[in-house]
Amino acid sequence: MDDLRRGWVVIDRHRNLFDLDGDVTRSAMHLGLQVEDGWLGLIDRMCDQLEAVAPGGFKVLSVKSKYATLRVAYRGGDDAVEVEVERTKTEALRTCSRCGAVGQQSTVDGELVVWCSGCRGVRGPDR
Ligand SMILES: [Zn+2]
Repeated sequence: MDDLRRGWVVIDRHRNLFDLDGDVTRSAMHLGLQVEDGWLGLIDRMCDQLEAVAPGGFKVLSVKSKYATLRVAYRGGDDAVEVEVERTKTEALRTCSRCGAVGQQSTVDGELVVWCSGCRGVRGPDR
């Protein structure tokens, strides 16, 4: 799957941030980044920032989208980590999860998504 492969490129670039060898009951990183392509760029930027601020022992346990919001689980974080993760989650709320353009939350086929007008147009009107 292309989605997953592109997500692994981001993980590979920031391998030390992710709990890739952890117990699967605690870390979901063996599943990769569970988001669509449009959010990979902001996750990549988040990782750049986290590499600069994260304390030793910090590990990301899972990254996924749920109900059109970005969810990031981690351990060993501190205030600086939380600020960066929250900033990224806020950015995700206005970033098309499909293509990375400016998007907004809307409902498509009864499902909450963050898509740009172009991606919504491909799927047709949602009202
Ligand atoms: Zn889009």
